[in-house]
Amino acid sequence: MHRAEVTLDLTAVERNVEELVKLADGAALWAVVKANAYGHGAAATAAAAMRAGANGLCVATAGEGTALRKLFPAARIIVLGPVTREEVVQARQARLECVAYNQESIAILGEQVDIHLKMNTGMNRWGWSEPPERLPDRIVGVFSHFARAYSDPRHTEEQTARFLQWSADMPNIPRHIANSAATLRFPSTHLDAVRCGTAILGLSPFEDSTPEELGLRPALRWTSYLAQTRILMPGDSVGYGDSFTAPLRMRMGIVPVGYGDGFSKRLTGSRILVGNTFAPVIGVVSMDAIAVGLERDVPTGTTVTIVGDGITLEDHAKVAGATNLEISTGLTADPRRVRRRFTH
Ligand SMILES: *Cc1c(COP(=O)(O)O)cnc(C)c1O
Repeated sequence: MHRAEVTLDLTAVERNVEELVKLADGAALWAVVKANAYGHGAAATAAAAMRAGANGLCVATAGEGTALRKLFPAARIIVLGPVTREEVVQARQARLECVAYNQESIAILGEQVDIHLKMNTGMNRWGWSEPPERLPDRIVGVFSHFARAYSDPRHTEEQTARFLQWSADMPNIPRHIANSAATLRFPSTHLDAVRCGTAILGLSPFEDSTPEELGLRPALRWTSYLAQTRILMPGDSVGYGDSFTAPLRMRMGIVPVGYGDGFSKRLTGSRILVGNTFAPVIGVVSMDAIAVGLERDVPTGTTVTIVGDGITLEDHAKVAGATNLEISTGLTADPRRVRRRFTH
C-alpha cells in the first residue's frame, strides 16, 4: 500500500490524441505538456501522445524543452513562453523552436533558433498587436492564442479574423491558433497546426460539457487509503479550528493526503470514494491529511479514490471554485509523497 498514488492511463491519452488527430483533419497536432503535463507527468504523456500520432510537443520554458529533448531526440519541441538571454544557448543546443513576442525577444533569439512569431489578437498578453515591419529570418510559424474559446464564439471569431488578416501577408509561413477548446468546437481555426493540452489528458475545457460528452477519456487517477477511523461525539470538532463540529454521534476517517500534495484547502465539502461509497471531506484540509465523514464502519486500509471511478477533476474544481487544470497542476510530483504509476 502507498500513502498516495497517481496513475496515468496511457491508453486514455492515446485514444484522446487519436480523436484529436481525426478532428484536426489534416492539421498537425502538437501536444502541450507544459507544467509536467498539467501535473499528469510530462515524459509519459508526451511519449503516449507521440505514439498516437502527435506531430510535436509544446512546453512553456526552455528548461522543460531541454528535459524533453533528452527523451525525444527527433521531435519538434516548441517553447511557448519567453526564453531569456541566459537560456538561448541551451535552447539552440537542444534544437528548441522559440517564440518571438516583441522586438527584444527577436534580439535575444537572433539567428540561433527557429522562431514562431506571436501575434496578439485579443488576449492582450504576449505578442505584436500589429505585424512587425521585418520578419525574423528563421521564422517557422506565426501564431496567436484564444482568450475565450471555451466560452465565447463571437470573441473567438473576431480573434480568428484578425489573425487570418495579418497572416495573409505572411504567405507560406505555417499558422496556428487553436487550443483544445477551439480544436473541439471551431474547425475553421485548425489551420496548419492545433496545440492541445487539456483535451489530450481527457479533461474538458468547457464548463458546460463533461469529458465524456466530448468523447474524451480522463487519464488521471489519484488514490490513497483510509489510515484511521474514529467516532465523534456531538460537539466534537475535527482538525484545525472548529469549522466542522459533529451535530450527532458520527463516524469519520482520516486520509493521509492534504494540501501539501495538491489537495486544495478549498476542497472541503467535495466528495471522494472510500471503497465504493461516497464520503464528504469535512473540516479544514491539513497539509498532510483530510477527514471524511463515514456512514458506517469501514476497515482501515480501505482504498480511497480522490480522482477516478466517476469522480472527475471537474467535480472537484466546481467545489473549489477552481478549474480542472488548477487542481491537476497542483498535484505534487515529489516521489517521497506520491507514487507515480502508469497503466496501459
Ligand atoms: C497552454 C497553451 C495551450 C494549450 O491549451 P489547452 O487549452 O490546454 O489545450 C495552447 N497554446 C498556448 C500558447 C498555451 O500557452
